[in-house]
Amino acid sequence: VPADEFEEFAHAVERIHTDLLHERSGAVADYIPTLRDADPEKFGIAICTADGQVFSIGDTADEFSVQSTSKPFSYAIALEQLGPEEVHRWIGQEQSGGPFNDPLLSLGRDGRPHNPMINAGAIGTLALVDSGKDLSDRLTTVQGAWAAMTGDRPQLHGPTFAAERDTGFGNAAFANALAKAGKLYGASPTDRRAPEDANEFYTMVCSLTMNTERLARAGATLAGGGVAPLSGKQVFSPETAARVLSVMGHSGMYNDSGQFSNQVGLPAKSGVSGNVLMVVPSKRMAVVVFSPRLDAVGNSVRGVEVCKRLVNEFGLHPYRSM
Ligand code: GLN
Repeated sequence: VPADEFEEFAHAVERIHTDLLHERSGAVADYIPTLRDADPEKFGIAICTADGQVFSIGDTADEFSVQSTSKPFSYAIALEQLGPEEVHRWIGQEQSGGPFNDPLLSLGRDGRPHNPMINAGAIGTLALVDSGKDLSDRLTTVQGAWAAMTGDRPQLHGPTFAAERDTGFGNAAFANALAKAGKLYGASPTDRRAPEDANEFYTMVCSLTMNTERLARAGATLAGGGVAPLSGKQVFSPETAARVLSVMGHSGMYNDSGQFSNQVGLPAKSGVSGNVLMVVPSKRMAVVVFSPRLDAVGNSVRGVEVCKRLVNEFGLHPYRSM
């Protein structure tokens, strides 16, 4: 990205950040204490280009659990380990038509979860990663992939993990349903531990700690076809990055994914801690917003608004030519 273009973009981000400080609609997630107690006023935006230019404004040092924004990256790791054909024997790649945690709509007729962006799909995807190894080694693999993208090894946020684990009955149900359908990789029908492990692994990965800037570096890795922005290291293949962006494009923003595609048109993923990651593909950049107040479907209100404004201002919607 040329320096003058980057500067113009950074100025727009700064202005939009100031404008949206007064946006106070929505409510923080309240299903676990660490999210319920988040300061709703927090607001940070970071951008990172595929060639490693970084700009950030606001509460960009604040840490938050990555939550569902881990899902595209878990999918990338599984694709790298097993290849798309094997991964998609277990996980679908279509819109689910339901909420990310809907018990009735999560598995398709063939028993596979609809895609890796819903909880059942993310649990099934992580079951593929380092299957058969100890959970602590498998977590180390995931942390290592994040470290390769961002230069920083994300830590597990203990209280978030404990609370998610102790109340994650819905996610336990997904893992069990996958095992019952014969769609939990590596699980034999008599292996009671397999669904428990899959759910625990997923919960650990959701509880990894991030800030806007580190998450933007991970997003920039996707924008750069798998090349980490700061180190220049090839972390994922271009094919993996393309597949991840594709599913983010149709299923990354919960039940508003279709509407978001119409209004923004770029691949994005959100998490219930109030983070939104948007990727401007073709070696351009990633934008990450952190603001904990969520709309009705679970997307950060300010996060979605930042995406809309940037796309409109810079004509970034791929189907709406200026
Ligand atoms: N850990 C949360 C869950 O599994 C993450 C969900 C999310 O960010 N939507 O319900």
